[in-house]
Amino acid sequence: MTSKVIYFTVNGRPEQAEFTADCPAQDVKDLFRAAAEAGPHDILKLYNTKGNIINISPKLEPNSPQSRYKLEVVAADCNSEPLGSELAVALGFDLSVMEKRLQSLEKKILGEAGETPSIVFEMKNQVESFREKLESVEHLSWLGLFKELSSTGTHKPSPFYHKRALRKTREECEHVRESFLQMSTLEVTEEVRQYLKTPTFDNWQWEDAEIMVLLQLMYTDLDFITTFHIELEVLQQFLYEVYKHYNNIPFHNFNHCFCMYGLIWLTDLRSKIDEIDLLTMLTSAVCHDLDHTGYNNAYQINARTELALRYNDISPLENHHCAVAFEILEKPENNIFRNLTTEQYKRIREGMIKCILATDMTRHNEILNQFKSILPVFDFSNKDHKDNLMMTMIKVSDISNEARPMDVAEPWLDCLLQEFFNQSDMEKLEGLPVSPFMDRDKVTKPSSQTGFIRFVLFPLFMELANLFPNLEQHIIDPVRKALDYYTEMEKALEKEKKEKQNRAQSEKAAKEKSMTTSQLEPKKPANGSLPKPGGSSTTKPKPPAAPTLKHINK
Ligand SMILES: [Zn+2]
Repeated sequence: MTSKVIYFTVNGRPEQAEFTADCPAQDVKDLFRAAAEAGPHDILKLYNTKGNIINISPKLEPNSPQSRYKLEVVAADCNSEPLGSELAVALGFDLSVMEKRLQSLEKKILGEAGETPSIVFEMKNQVESFREKLESVEHLSWLGLFKELSSTGTHKPSPFYHKRALRKTREECEHVRESFLQMSTLEVTEEVRQYLKTPTFDNWQWEDAEIMVLLQLMYTDLDFITTFHIELEVLQQFLYEVYKHYNNIPFHNFNHCFCMYGLIWLTDLRSKIDEIDLLTMLTSAVCHDLDHTGYNNAYQINARTELALRYNDISPLENHHCAVAFEILEKPENNIFRNLTTEQYKRIREGMIKCILATDMTRHNEILNQFKSILPVFDFSNKDHKDNLMMTMIKVSDISNEARPMDVAEPWLDCLLQEFFNQSDMEKLEGLPVSPFMDRDKVTKPSSQTGFIRFVLFPLFMELANLFPNLEQHIIDPVRKALDYYTEMEKALEKEKKEKQNRAQSEKAAKEKSMTTSQLEPKKPANGSLPKPGGSSTTKPKPPAAPTLKHINK
């Protein structure tokens, strides 16, 4: 089945979607929703060049870049119960309260004047038509985004409901692969080589193809190519498959796999453990979030996804990341371990499974406590000690963003919160339990960090710094600064919130005072009509745009 390409604009930005005519309708809809960066509550409208609304379906008429369709996010889906209150918050008023107020005004005026004035009729009509409009959202289901939710809460989403839209397109992958292969022949400057080894390295400055070159450099500069007889084409093919298997999501994307290398150099680990263990650690870090869909284990388990079923609720994601890694390695053309002995391969596989599974945060205390207990007698030649060190170090790298300079770390936090909020929105929509730390109504940027740094980062980083004292300066100090920064931000936000509350209270008191002295009169909104749903309330925070191509070899 040949695929068709649909050209369209969204927020003035040109986009194109590719799918086959036999692609499921829901997947096509999801594709457009992803392109619009629309939330699960949003409704999309697609217009043709004549300005007519057309159906988002696999049957869409192919067009050309010159006759692009226009995609718009028009409104929030407010037909489901939990969204009623959200809508009230978004609109700044509650429709039912307004109706009640109108009723009481009408009664009062009827009693006083003997008949209903026309202005009250007019307002009543406006409220009614607005309600009708909101309640008939289901009739827009042909547009593709209305979701039928079961009121019993047993609604079961498709396990990979969101998956396809997050996947990289073939064009995207091929373009990156070409650039990567072209760039990989260039020699990387000594300056970049050294910079890459530091914890201040700024990942936001590099495009995907450049990151692949840097990953290749990691394998080269740690001497893995010669020690383990890795052919360059095989390494490049492996890195390309890794790139392909990271999804386009805000946080757990290809950029995030890039975290272990600096720590290996910082701790001078090469002088302490075998090269095969270093190869295990670097490859585990590179693969540790493969095919992450942006929804954590709690979601997988609560939504009873295919992953949760397959892995019996035991670290479904981490098991999946690891399985995808070994699926990639199964193909000889990707298998960077293909020249290893069976013994060596067994050792790497065992190590990678341990390391990747250790990134499940529910195992945090177990691994940290074990590390603490062996620390006083730590011996680099003891296999159990070394296994635990490798797990601890991949954990540290996994959550090490806060140890980076603020202009590198803060965009990462924005991305993480965006991914969290996407998940909690989906959980609300599906009637699933919502973790408070992911809830956009409960979490602020600083509040998400202060507790995490105090209770998770510090205890972990401090223990590792006991074994490698120079981490104090390179990792602990920056985290301390980050804690101060977010503590200050938290205080400022608290202050602002209190001031807002005080202002609202005094305004309310002043209003009540004037209500008792002036005559009761229904007021028409300034623009003569009721506010429209959607608009700015549907806009979402955006991840920082990665800067455009910087040259590796200058
Ligand atoms: Zn991770």
